[in-house]
Amino acid sequence: MSRNVNDYDKEKQLLQAYFPFIQKDSEKMTDKLDKVVAFEQALQGLMTVCGDDAKCEGVLETPYRMTKALLEYTEGYREDPKQHLEKTFDVPYQELVLVKDIEFYSMCEHHLAPFFGVAHVGYFPGEKITGLSKIARMVEGYARRFQVQERLTTQIAEALEEVLAPVGVMVVVEAKHLCMCSRGVKKSSAVTLTSATRGAFTTDPALRAEFLSLVKEH
Ligand SMILES: [Zn+2]
Repeated sequence: MSRNVNDYDKEKQLLQAYFPFIQKDSEKMTDKLDKVVAFEQALQGLMTVCGDDAKCEGVLETPYRMTKALLEYTEGYREDPKQHLEKTFDVPYQELVLVKDIEFYSMCEHHLAPFFGVAHVGYFPGEKITGLSKIARMVEGYARRFQVQERLTTQIAEALEEVLAPVGVMVVVEAKHLCMCSRGVKKSSAVTLTSATRGAFTTDPALRAEFLSLVKEH
């Protein structure tokens, strides 16, 4: 693509901020910059297709702002969320640990529309426990990607299982999907619930019941 590199200084700086581990003038960085530029041009075209005047002042910067927002929404790709759990403590605690109402914001991979809600994450420790805020950080790491709620739920459960080797894990995610609320079937009050269980929560209905009754308590 022919372009004047100086026109895209802002995009370049943005990419350098989000990908500090990629060398400044490397082929990889140039490739990313080319893709960002192509995306911003395409987005301007799409805005015109939708009926907007993409050249009017208020929206001139919109393609750049959207690139910036997308890089922020997808920060989870640039980390391994499991690693947050790796700070563990040996504490003899053989009861349920439940962190509920962990807020998250994600984007559905089918429409790139936001979906958001809360995750309730519980585990029954084996030999080690992890910091409670680390669980929230791990959820955030998987949410900040292009996702489907089902995969998000599974990834959270698997991360806990893999790092903590607990007796059991249970995860319930409740979310509203804008692709369902504001388009298509337009069911604005519909909430999607997904759950995943591992170990003792899969085999013991009493543990699942305890989890659910604690989640319902306010
Ligand atoms: Zn969708």
